[in-house]
Amino acid sequence: MMDIYSLSLEELTEILVDKDLERYRGDQVFDWLYKKQVRTFDDMTNLPKQARKELSVSFSMSPMKELAREVSEDGTEKSLYMLEDGHLIESVIIRHPDRTTLCISTQVGCPMKCPFCATGQSGYVRDLTIGEIVFQAVELERSMEPTVGTNIVFMGMGEPLLNLENVLKAISILNSPKGRAMGVRRFTISTLGIPDGIRAIAERAPAVKLSISLHSPNDTMRSKLVPLNKTYGLKELFAALEDYVERTGNRLTFEYVLMDGMNDSVKDARDLSELIAGLPAYVNIIPLNPTQSLIRRPSDEKVVEFCEELHERGVEAFVRIEKGKDIEAACGQLRLRYLEGGEFDKKNR
Ligand code: SAH
Repeated sequence: MMDIYSLSLEELTEILVDKDLERYRGDQVFDWLYKKQVRTFDDMTNLPKQARKELSVSFSMSPMKELAREVSEDGTEKSLYMLEDGHLIESVIIRHPDRTTLCISTQVGCPMKCPFCATGQSGYVRDLTIGEIVFQAVELERSMEPTVGTNIVFMGMGEPLLNLENVLKAISILNSPKGRAMGVRRFTISTLGIPDGIRAIAERAPAVKLSISLHSPNDTMRSKLVPLNKTYGLKELFAALEDYVERTGNRLTFEYVLMDGMNDSVKDARDLSELIAGLPAYVNIIPLNPTQSLIRRPSDEKVVEFCEELHERGVEAFVRIEKGKDIEAACGQLRLRYLEGGEFDKKNR
């Protein structure tokens, strides 16, 4: 069966026309899927009964089901979904006073092996399909009715630039004016920084925002924290970022996860300010959310000291207020706990 959430309006319309339905039926189905967010074809009451029946045997409307949901004291909500092949992914709703962010996964696991990241520790299984990416947003929003997300970040499990085709297609489906109509500027791709991928985004989706997971201003330490840096070092990364900024005019975000004794010294802050000096950018400082690795989070004093050093050097930097700490909302943590048995087994027996 074809997954309906993988289709653009144009593709869906062509298929419906092939099934002898009128062209405008595509618009109607998109409206039901993305504006009214119904769960079955039977709910699409302005379609002829026969058509609803036929569509329900041609298309799948549920590429995943929710296994667990955890709600944090600060309003962060995390969902664990099981895909049709049994694999698990996570998606998160993060509430800020002025916006609600949907944090979406792009891969099952991740091949990048960053030692501080729970997803990196659990290995890579496969890329998510277009429909699996789109459906996370639909399902999260269905759970928060009548409100909707104000923006979407690809900061869940996986490296979005390794699944770029599906990510870009998912963005264009969610952007479709007859469907969810989420503005392209409301999407952020978070990446470790693959130079070709960065240039591809600049060319093909210049309105999408880019967030770079930097974590260290020098190649030696960055290669330890981000193994991909051994392939594409800082020089290549920054050459691509300069091209990106020149082409799009967008400001960049640098994500900098602070780790005790590894990347949190005053010298690191100075080197960081020099490294990014030529680019319009700001820095998100994120104190490490400890996982099973031996890497620790620095003291609050260290975090403040690092941030102040950046401010003194004219860098715009914020310490990202942690969200969902009590529900292990750091990338991949909930899934890891489930994969290791315990709760997952209990709930499924
Ligand atoms: N692979 C992409 C997107 C997924 S990770 C990337 O690396 O950007 C999204 C963000 O979560 C990254 O900035 C990553 O460094 C951060 N992150 C991962 N594990 C973390 C942890 N244990 N504590 C705090 N931030 C973490």
